[in-house]
Amino acid sequence: MSGQYEESIAKVFDRIKKSKINAYITLNEHEAMETARAVDKGEVTGRLAGMPVAIKDCITTKGIQTTCGSKILTGYVPPFDAEVTARVKKEGAVIIGKTNMDEFAMGSSTENSYYGVTRNPWDLNRVAGGSSGGSGASVAGLECRISLGTDTGGSVRCPASYCGVVGIKPTYGLVSRYGVVEYANSLEQVGPIARSVSDAALMLDVIAGHDPKDSTSVGEADKVTYTDHLNEGVKGLTIGVPEEYFGEGLNPSVEKAVWDGIMTLNKLGADYKKVSLPHTKYALSAYYIIAMCEASSNLARFDGLRYGLRTGKDENWHSTFSRIRAEGFGQEVKRRVMLGTYALSEGYYGKYYLKALKVRTLIKRDFEKAFKDVDVLAAPTMPTPAFKIGEKTEEPLSMYMADVNTLPINLAGVPSISVPCGFAGRLPIGLQLIGDLFAEPLLIRTAYTFE
Ligand code: GLN
Repeated sequence: MSGQYEESIAKVFDRIKKSKINAYITLNEHEAMETARAVDKGEVTGRLAGMPVAIKDCITTKGIQTTCGSKILTGYVPPFDAEVTARVKKEGAVIIGKTNMDEFAMGSSTENSYYGVTRNPWDLNRVAGGSSGGSGASVAGLECRISLGTDTGGSVRCPASYCGVVGIKPTYGLVSRYGVVEYANSLEQVGPIARSVSDAALMLDVIAGHDPKDSTSVGEADKVTYTDHLNEGVKGLTIGVPEEYFGEGLNPSVEKAVWDGIMTLNKLGADYKKVSLPHTKYALSAYYIIAMCEASSNLARFDGLRYGLRTGKDENWHSTFSRIRAEGFGQEVKRRVMLGTYALSEGYYGKYYLKALKVRTLIKRDFEKAFKDVDVLAAPTMPTPAFKIGEKTEEPLSMYMADVNTLPINLAGVPSISVPCGFAGRLPIGLQLIGDLFAEPLLIRTAYTFE
């Protein structure tokens, strides 16, 4: 006779195998069933015991292929766990598999994956968002309970918003990046995606905390239990509504749903007022310059020798390096490596990279100023609901523009949570709540009012 966990995890794999969503690149069925049986026997325990958890494919998992959605990492099986993977396993989670993503987390739709597009469970002709599209869709499509994504410029919150689930981008440094394959390391954080704020808070409790293996990690989370703050309510809080986040291109249904959300908070005892973050208009350009510069440097390690794809024979290392990268990287990755290399080259460095860093400081100051006046900022996560597959693939700039409301948050390093607040037709809409550095407890209690 099979036990309760074995049975429920077997059902999850059944559903995944029949699914049209394409949320996973690699399944971990054998090991998952073993863990489930061990939970049934009481041999494995913890805060996530027996829960089906999915992990984005740029987070390393010992013994399970980790591709970052790229051909260049085909066959790369890491010999170690990322710190977040280790923490999730330690709490007894059942790792279902590795989720699909835009190649090296570059994108907002998961259309840039070598392993095919991930479809939105609410409408299979639409994108699930990106770059953590598989992580968002697997949660929304009941193909796991909680997932881990990474957010460099919106990649946890965008799929959360498009798939009608909850996503948290923690304060920079709160969660260890050890074992997370780097895209733009000064911007990114690992974050939970879940169907409820309480599940997301639980996962944050598990993954947040100081890790000596990541020099940018801080100890702030070691003093806090996020799930303790769920029920604190919003009475007496002041919500700031940044006018720049309600700009051109905002879909009217999104605008209405977000305002309805703000009014709900108001009815529950929070005040609200309009505020301005005047440098928001420069965020998109600054973000893409910084992200591409960091990417061009980080991706140099994929040289055809150390990781993954290794085909053919060449005269020397230089030709191996060029050939494997030409074969292994997709178009968007090549575009960004070239633009990043250009922006960092002598003579252009000051004009582009340095200037973008100065803009970043101004954006940070906008937030510092706003949080002297308000407790939480509320805005649309994405300006529109999920778009159709193929709609933006020919136009990289229109894809980049989808991130206008998420990427300033990564430039400033502050935390943000996306929570479902309504629908446009049958497509879900996300409300974004942004807090000051380490204000996750405040965001969680505010978001919980929508549960
Ligand atoms: N869409 C943004 C980009 O392509 C953000 C991606 C992310 O957060 N990883 O850079």
